[in-house]
Amino acid sequence: AKRLYSTIYRSPFPEPALPQPTSLFHFHFPTTGLDPSRAALPAYTDALTGQTLTQGEVRSMSLRMGYGIKKVPGLVKGDVALIFSPNSLEYAVAFFACQAAGLVVTPASASYTPHELAYHIKDSTAKIAFVHPDLMETFEKAQQVVDQENGSQKGLDVFQLTPDSAGDVQAEEKGGRSFWTLMATEDEMGDWRGEELGPGEEHNAAVLCYSSGTTGLPKGVETTHWNLTTMQTVFSVAMEKLCPEEQDKALALLPFSHIFGLVLVLLHPLTMRIPIIVLPKFTPHTFFTTIQTHKVTWSFVVPPLVSLLANFSGVAKYDMSSLRGLLSGAAPMSPDVARAAMDRLSESTGKDFMITQGYGLTETSPATHVLTLKDARRKLGSIGQLLPSLEAKIVQPDGSEAPTGTPGELLLKGPTVMKGYWRNESATEGSFTADKWLKTGDVVKVDEEGFWYIVDRLKEMIKVKGLQVAPAELEALLLSHPHIVDAGVIATKDAEDNELPRAFVVPRPSVLSDIVASSEAMAEYTQEIDNWVKERVSRHKQLRGGIIPVEAIPRSGSGKILRRQLATLKPLEVVMP
Ligand code: AMP
Repeated sequence: AKRLYSTIYRSPFPEPALPQPTSLFHFHFPTTGLDPSRAALPAYTDALTGQTLTQGEVRSMSLRMGYGIKKVPGLVKGDVALIFSPNSLEYAVAFFACQAAGLVVTPASASYTPHELAYHIKDSTAKIAFVHPDLMETFEKAQQVVDQENGSQKGLDVFQLTPDSAGDVQAEEKGGRSFWTLMATEDEMGDWRGEELGPGEEHNAAVLCYSSGTTGLPKGVETTHWNLTTMQTVFSVAMEKLCPEEQDKALALLPFSHIFGLVLVLLHPLTMRIPIIVLPKFTPHTFFTTIQTHKVTWSFVVPPLVSLLANFSGVAKYDMSSLRGLLSGAAPMSPDVARAAMDRLSESTGKDFMITQGYGLTETSPATHVLTLKDARRKLGSIGQLLPSLEAKIVQPDGSEAPTGTPGELLLKGPTVMKGYWRNESATEGSFTADKWLKTGDVVKVDEEGFWYIVDRLKEMIKVKGLQVAPAELEALLLSHPHIVDAGVIATKDAEDNELPRAFVVPRPSVLSDIVASSEAMAEYTQEIDNWVKERVSRHKQLRGGIIPVEAIPRSGSGKILRRQLATLKPLEVVMP
């Protein structure tokens, strides 16, 4: 047979031995228990209250809670549990408890609207939910939508993630149940140490994070036990170069609902014995004071935070001297902005401060490339080198290999690549080539030294603050508006190169003549749509790139939106009477 590919890229890092197949829970908390030095280590500290759980406490609480969850009537191993909460210590306990009980965890973004949450609940087929008390109102509205659509189906079992056991009362007052009521005693638990996996079950999903992938609506990404245990083993190789110091302390700032926050911030530091300082909500002040108070040495961040650091003169007011470096990921980071932020932080910390970059996808559990601190300045703008265990190829649109040095789509294969999309075979099939390489939808190039660069994005996905915006989701929403007959959404960019969703809409013929009658009427029309969308989507999905009424949306013969043509469309003009 003709060989299409001759260049398969591999990692320059040492290849670690992959872990024995085991559940994610037992990877962190083996049935034999933790050795005493590890059990005593602080695992998570609440940045605001200072409350700390040691690794041993997380293990024992998760086991007792997991045993209680197992006893919830009607739940069986492999059922899906939804967590809907900002970052907190309880989040960590609920996550590991569900894992111990053999459930699949689907984390829902704390910024969801009821409309978005209803979609997530239905699509993930969640049977039980753990919800922060402040988000109960949103949850209940979403639940009503789901109940209406499902008719007779019984709703989810809901437990509130109240801050501590005193919270039982708080939840009960509101007519709910606190998750602390699930906590079994050591006696009840006996010698149970978490659900064991049967042969091959390490390839079952442990987590479902939502991603639209290269096209369409958000889908649950089946990240398996094997994906996650190998990811953490592989990522340690890079982290040993990034975060090697005894005194390291990481900041959990990214939401645990995004795979980046879940895997690299909630889970991985435990294996590196790095304490995690948990910040529920970001504001510049809480971010800087947390670093100062807890002597944070290290944090994963997203590009808008790097912009903030580059531009915020108030940085000098805080003692940031403990901080050694930051790693930005989840969206493109501008090299100029990164350089400015490094200079400012070098000045205020009195050391050669590094901001480096990583790259990955929800579909790759997530990290596939990391730029180490020593290369951060020399290779500024690069996403770094390929991580161990992965194979990569760069291909042209026809699937043939891109000539050396020229850009093309990145394809990936390896143990950290997802199994597929949850209950969505056609989307799964569409995201792999016939010979099982994952199509990333990103255009990359690689230099002679093996450093990779993101050059472009082929897929529809828009990234705002590191979070995904799926054009198909906004288009479907816009189509349900009474005064819109067709819609297309693409990204536009602001002055700092941040992406913003922009909608092109075709007005319903019955309102068209009113809209084009005056510029005020046109403005009123788009303003009304803007407000209507705001009520239904998370902040980062709002149409900050504008709403542009047009005559028609360009589509291919098969009905697919021709997105590249959208950007050049002429807006509808006001017709003078
Ligand atoms: P997600 O699944 O939400 O993590 O989104 C993955 C996508 O984010 C990738 O396919 C890229 O398009 C983009 N992305 C992630 N990291 C980077 C990075 N360092 N530079 C540029 N784009 C990135």
